[in-house]
Amino acid sequence: MGASIAVQGHSHAETDHLENTGSGILRASVFGVSDGLVSNLALVMGVAGGSQSADAVVLAGTAGLLAGAFSMAAGEYISMITQRETMEKQLHVEREHIVDFPEEEEAHLARLLGESGLDADVANDMARKIHEKVDPALDFHALLELGIVPNKMGSPFAAAVASFFSFVAGAAIPLLPWLVGDTALTISIGVSGAALLVVGGAVTRYTHRSLLVGALRQLAFGGTAAAVTWGVGRAVGSLL
Ligand SMILES: [Zn+2]
Repeated sequence: MGASIAVQGHSHAETDHLENTGSGILRASVFGVSDGLVSNLALVMGVAGGSQSADAVVLAGTAGLLAGAFSMAAGEYISMITQRETMEKQLHVEREHIVDFPEEEEAHLARLLGESGLDADVANDMARKIHEKVDPALDFHALLELGIVPNKMGSPFAAAVASFFSFVAGAAIPLLPWLVGDTALTISIGVSGAALLVVGGAVTRYTHRSLLVGALRQLAFGGTAAAVTWGVGRAVGSLL
């Protein structure tokens, strides 16, 4: 069989790690399924375009599924760990400021509260009460100054596990038909097209797009990726 190189490139920018509790995990999972589906559909079609062997497709598709899932999980874990460590450092510095310069920090909080439209005397009052203890003071400084909700930092491990399995679920869709029948190509394209529509529709739950636009857009992107890799696979296959 010809050598196939699967390049797995995933952007983690689209997942919001700040809000990784419950619905955050669900959201990351939807994007994981989408990534796995598009990535492995393109890979499977690339190999199918250049090789007559279903074995080659199964082998490459299985390797692509695992490689992508590990890449997603590792990327998600490292991204979240880094983000968490950055937040912890910021919170540590902020706590030191609150302990070492209580008056300045209280005045700063009063100013931040005032910016949200409260009357100055109410803002001063609130800032004084909040600053009676360090922990609540830190929570308010974290929120208003740093945009951090301290107890809402999600679990990097849970996010990594969710990414892994959601990628596997998406990547399995174009691959599974090759394990069963000899009309694999048609079935693989059919179920993958349907899955692209469903996943594209599901993603609109987190955007302002309509269900139909999301579904068709996903089909267009996934279909284009698959068509391009099919063509390149076919061209490269003819040279081998
Ligand atoms: Zn502060």
